[in-house]
Amino acid sequence: METLFYERLKTYFGNDYEKVLAKLKEEAKTSIFLNIAKAPKGEIAKFLLFEHWPSKINPLSYYYRYAGIGKTKAYDLGLIYPQELSASLPSLIPDTKDVKIVLDMCAAPGGKSINILNRLNDDAILIANEIDYIRAQVLTSNLERLGFGNVIITNKRPEELLILRGKIDLLILDAPCSGEGMVKKYPEIIEDYNINHILNCARTQKELLKVAYELLKPGGQLIYSTCTYAPEEDEQQIKTFINDHEDLYLKPFKLDFKTYEGMAKMGFLDDMEGQFMAYMQKSGSSSSILPMAKTAKEPLVEAFIKDNLSLDNYYLYRQKDRFFLSLVPLPDLGSKIMRMGVYLGEIVAKRFEPAHHLYRANNLRKYFIKTYDLNDRQYDDFIKGAELGVDLSDGYYLLSYQKLALGFGKVANKRLKNKYPKGLRRMI
Ligand code: SAM
Repeated sequence: METLFYERLKTYFGNDYEKVLAKLKEEAKTSIFLNIAKAPKGEIAKFLLFEHWPSKINPLSYYYRYAGIGKTKAYDLGLIYPQELSASLPSLIPDTKDVKIVLDMCAAPGGKSINILNRLNDDAILIANEIDYIRAQVLTSNLERLGFGNVIITNKRPEELLILRGKIDLLILDAPCSGEGMVKKYPEIIEDYNINHILNCARTQKELLKVAYELLKPGGQLIYSTCTYAPEEDEQQIKTFINDHEDLYLKPFKLDFKTYEGMAKMGFLDDMEGQFMAYMQKSGSSSSILPMAKTAKEPLVEAFIKDNLSLDNYYLYRQKDRFFLSLVPLPDLGSKIMRMGVYLGEIVAKRFEPAHHLYRANNLRKYFIKTYDLNDRQYDDFIKGAELGVDLSDGYYLLSYQKLALGFGKVANKRLKNKYPKGLRRMI
């Protein structure tokens, strides 16, 4: 199987083949994406206390060298997302100015969603969908850590998204693929290399593209990407797709100071992992009117909001005893919804228990009435899950570090009960 991998690689790269082989022997580069939705770039820079340098091609992507990235304040505070540079590129392509409804069709673990959310206006909504429930949970926790509130997270099969037929302004289809571009990170891809796998991936992608086409509104933009070099999954796939749809065309785009005629491939020779991307648009124009989800009324929850947030206008949604809040009205997407905007909390034994997401949401940060900025020692204790002694009146507090939201706690009798999620706690 290895022989086949290298034979095909030779056909992809021709005269550059030897250079590619040399690149494959190099260690994979690690990079992070800066979440400017949480803090400006200059402020994030103060937290990057490890070796890092700019990527040149994406102004928000930086290379770094540091094994403990997941144990940094930058990570805890949601200022960074570890992501290989090439994976961050597709989201740089579309025009996001007038975009209102975005769908990331295969969204977990969340990289493309995070990239595009950093480019959307406040009134835009991202629907982040993931077919696999466990991966959808990872997606949820990543979007929560980075503080996104204008997101609906769904766990649907692609066909189940067709309730949104003709409504999507911008669709990102980062398709499951054979992963040839990831071999530095996952060498087992070479060992298991198999043409049937490539053809199976191509078949799945074709089905996903069919659904994507149906979902796009006239005038809607489509970004298709894979992390493989296989033409069956990349150029050939897209050429056939375009040929099959008269009202769909490739759009030129600029990346790395070059103009591409609708398709681009980055890879080992550019010091990256492999990434194919195509940019398409459906001709025509239309505005999307979506049926809105029914809002909820619940005195216990409304009283909590009134006491804790100086917020007059909001939309409250309910899923059994769980409540969600949004600053913009959200569409009704039926079942298999994991998040509807910000997860506010739930009613447990007739009491309302707020959730961590509420205190991490970037769009709600400025509305909190009770906030408390932790010093370095308190930060370390809080991250470990310890209770803190504080000179504060009773109630729930948004806890921040250098004014950046970290989590929350409940004060009673000068003791702050730690509400940092158990799964996130760690020793320093
Ligand atoms: N966009 C993600 C990001 O940037 O973090 C990466 C997505 S990954 C390349 C492809 C995703 O497609 C996986 O999460 C996988 O679970 C999902 N997937 C696999 N088979 C699928 C199918 N038949 N239909 C829809 N999604 C599928």
